[in-house]
Amino acid sequence: MIKNNSHIVVLGAGESGTGAALLASQKGYSVFVSDHSKIDAKYKSELLKAQIDFEETQHSESRILSAQTIIKSPGIPNTASIVQKAIEKGIEIISEIEFALRFSKAKVIAITGSNGKTTTTSMCYHILSQAGLDVAVGGNIGDSIARILLQKDYDYLVIEMSSFQLDDSPSIKPYIAILLNITADHLDRYENSIEKYALSKLQITTNQDKDDYLIYNIDDEVSSNLIEKSNLNPQKIKTTLQQKLENGAYADQHNLIINHNNKTQFTMSLNELALQGKHNYYNSMAAAVAANLIGLRKETIKACLTNFQGQPHRMEFVAKIHGVEYINDSKATNVNSAWYALESMRKPVVWIAGGKDKGNNYGELEHLVKEKVTAIICLGKDNSKIKKAFGSIVEEIHEADTAYKAVQKAYRIAQKDQIVLLSPCCASFDLFEDYKDRGDQFKEAVKAL
Ligand code: ADP
Repeated sequence: MIKNNSHIVVLGAGESGTGAALLASQKGYSVFVSDHSKIDAKYKSELLKAQIDFEETQHSESRILSAQTIIKSPGIPNTASIVQKAIEKGIEIISEIEFALRFSKAKVIAITGSNGKTTTTSMCYHILSQAGLDVAVGGNIGDSIARILLQKDYDYLVIEMSSFQLDDSPSIKPYIAILLNITADHLDRYENSIEKYALSKLQITTNQDKDDYLIYNIDDEVSSNLIEKSNLNPQKIKTTLQQKLENGAYADQHNLIINHNNKTQFTMSLNELALQGKHNYYNSMAAAVAANLIGLRKETIKACLTNFQGQPHRMEFVAKIHGVEYINDSKATNVNSAWYALESMRKPVVWIAGGKDKGNNYGELEHLVKEKVTAIICLGKDNSKIKKAFGSIVEEIHEADTAYKAVQKAYRIAQKDQIVLLSPCCASFDLFEDYKDRGDQFKEAVKAL
């Protein structure tokens, strides 16, 4: 445990670092913030206002290495030289979430996975807040947990956690943990080892005890195998789309069902779910199980899953023009998320894909592309991998280097009752600031048609 008045250094002054610095300062610690890039004006003014000492565009080694505790932003890898030196010196290095939760008595619902975190976190929060609970949402989404706790503590905290945040959260112990899936992503930070990446995700449950719950998806092999073979304490609740469960949540052709000891606790029609597509059935199931465990009324859960508004850039409907639907799924930055997007398409697709490739294996998409895609428009600097992977199975492949050109091209190609889908399968940094910028530019170009 951190001793008060000990010296805390915060590495990285983004949302989590600034939140952590503000909370640490409020709690009476001596705080120094160090960022090796320029600090965003908004965060700088907050630090100045709170009279927190900081530096930017450098790391002053002696000041940093005199810390008792370092709160490290999730974007900074352990291989960074300043972190290496801190590790060698034996300085405690923790995440902002680990630090913040030391000041909270809230019951934590924590969500992780390679895909679906933001959607499921938002759904959980939507249900809990609509049910009237004293709840806040944050972490890898929206405000940092430290910032949230500056104002007050809550009965419930719904926290989206990335693997990087879990890596530095040794005592995270959620009341309800949701592990959605584990597929290859961010492997560059895990020595290209999916096992290491998976173990990092497992951290969401390793401190849980028998009064806690772990919700997981048995259709996802990597995560469910790991959970089954690990010696875990929480009550495990399974979700699946592939079989009936006596204990757990599943979907038959028409309904989403939660059973406990073969007794139905909850049922609702899949058609009523606000977010459609298999991937969203998994997300909705996990959120419904969590709300059910908390004891919320079935009517509230149903109403919330029906009226939930999806997040932008995730299978976001943009417009229908001359009978062609335009969908923005810019957040699909890996093969698995693009797989679910293509899988959910019920009409022929003009597919806009490409960007910064993260070592993708496009073979996993081959049968879906064969079945559903009539044309591909590559939207990346280097499109050679996509052209090679699909050149022989899709008749038309074009290239564009702006979202505007890609949309113009799609508009000319797509026919009535087809879908233009931006689901890039790749990161955006080659041509755009981030996935939001890519999605926004796509939407603007569609609206200009
Ligand atoms: P994350 O926060 O984990 O990145 P999001 O909810 O933002 O997840 O969704 C990211 C992308 O993954 C979107 O393209 C979305 O359509 C897709 N997606 C959402 N849920 C799932 C899921 N359970 N499995 C696979 N893909 C998903």
